[in-house]
Amino acid sequence: MKIALIAHDKKKEDMIRFTTAYKDIFSQHELFATGTTGLRIQEETGLSIHRFQSGPLGGDQEIGACIAKNEMDLVLFFRDPLTAQPHEPDVSALIRLCDVYAVPLATNMGTAEVLVKGLKRGDIEWRKMV
Ligand code: PGA
Repeated sequence: MKIALIAHDKKKEDMIRFTTAYKDIFSQHELFATGTTGLRIQEETGLSIHRFQSGPLGGDQEIGACIAKNEMDLVLFFRDPLTAQPHEPDVSALIRLCDVYAVPLATNMGTAEVLVKGLKRGDIEWRKMV
């Protein structure tokens, strides 16, 4: 599965804890991330990650383009709902594309846990048929 990982600045520590906790699962998949999120995860977990631009510089849009081309199966996006983001339109566009293409999307760690456990159980295998 192709998995996109994105975390706003105040959620990056959560994302590192999360990817560390589920490293065994993540290591069996192809990982993508926005620039800074990907760098931090790589440094802290050793997981191999394809990094796009940083979010505010177009990284969210690059991930959106993958979704539009059916090249992303799961998006884990740890959003910060309490801080204004300069690239809010890109964030909304990414979430919208997940809905357009029925790509499973978590916007917080609680939902991400459910999705990753489902991923381990094979609940997202249907994506291979899309
Ligand atoms: P970053 O981008 O991983 O480059 O910080 C995330 C975002 O803010 O969308």
